[in-house]
Amino acid sequence: MPACPGPATVVFDQSLTEYDFGPEHPMSPLRVDLTMRLATELGVVGDRLRVVPAPIASEDVIATVHRPELIEAVMRAGRDPMAVDGVHGLGTDDNPVFRGMHHATAHIVGASVEAFRQVWSGESLHAANITGGLHHAMPDRASGFCIYNDVAIGIQSLLDQGAERIAYVDVDVHHGDGVERVFWDDPRVLTISLHETGQMLFPGTGFPRDLGGPRALGSAVNVALPPGTADAGWLRAFHAVVPPLLREFKPQVLVTQHGCDSHAEDPLAHLMLTVDGQRAAYLALHDLAHELCEGRWVATGGGGYAVVDVVPRAWSHLLAIVSGVPLDPDSETPAGWREHVRERLGRVAPMRLTDGRSPAYRDWRDGYDPEAWLDRAIHATRMEAFPLHGLDPLP
Ligand SMILES: [Zn+2]
Ligand SMILES: [Zn+2]
Repeated sequence: MPACPGPATVVFDQSLTEYDFGPEHPMSPLRVDLTMRLATELGVVGDRLRVVPAPIASEDVIATVHRPELIEAVMRAGRDPMAVDGVHGLGTDDNPVFRGMHHATAHIVGASVEAFRQVWSGESLHAANITGGLHHAMPDRASGFCIYNDVAIGIQSLLDQGAERIAYVDVDVHHGDGVERVFWDDPRVLTISLHETGQMLFPGTGFPRDLGGPRALGSAVNVALPPGTADAGWLRAFHAVVPPLLREFKPQVLVTQHGCDSHAEDPLAHLMLTVDGQRAAYLALHDLAHELCEGRWVATGGGGYAVVDVVPRAWSHLLAIVSGVPLDPDSETPAGWREHVRERLGRVAPMRLTDGRSPAYRDWRDGYDPEAWLDRAIHATRMEAFPLHGLDPLP
């Protein structure tokens, strides 16, 4: 990792945990709370990583991406959770309504918009909002635990201030369909999503031939990975696709979504990564921001449903990398944090920041195996997308 001058920011205040679909829902706000506690006890949050509070986004800001009918429906549902209209993806098992949901989601949007502002203004070199990354929300409907698309609104806020090239890399196990949809036909935004194939997993989209609209062909890139893909295969795919496209596109800002539901222990999907593989991806994205964007990097959270065993460690690594000082994966988790987990949840928290793996991978340039599902997936993406960027798709 190159020397990182900073400064860096995490946008956070405790009331962001009010984005809460209830005790039966997998997206528990505990994951954010346990992450901030762990990162704080590890000394990640502090001098190197300033905490700034999150404003509430106005309706006008939300409406730069979302239809007024959706915003009105969310406000209505938040005032009276019994009065759901049923047409905007609200009131489903995935997106149950809860009192105050407009306010809680507008707060997450405000946090992301502030992270984007920090980086675009130069106040921070890197900025993170781990409560953000609600990448499934569509202009006219909530989807996949996501009510408003904070990250699309953040990107739009920079376009509205004159940004010309923004790259969005989504490493969540699910396809980043909402962000892709919003900028589908906009050549200023390159979206790249690596995810478990939509043949197996929600939202069922994101295939190599999905490349963007007629004015922006090649601005959407999808890598549809086979179930069971682990660190080595995932990193092989990442390095075969992401750095060459980013180097060609030359973004002014790098925006990344860090859903950590690609982990082997995640209950909602079927990839087999470890926190060590995830950390390697975060480091690579950080380095690309320095190489290509003069360090301008906005990082968000995303999915992640192993709320004790995975999310706090994965995102503490992320926040440490954002701060410019990565954590040693061999370190133990602080005793005070483990004690908090035991008292609060009656569960045994992980002892170490590593899963004990070393994230090595085989480089694509050394050749590929047309018989292997993973290599066919990588090859398909390169064959479709690379020529549209003037790149040779063959190794
Ligand atoms: Zn840096
Ligand atoms: Zn996800």
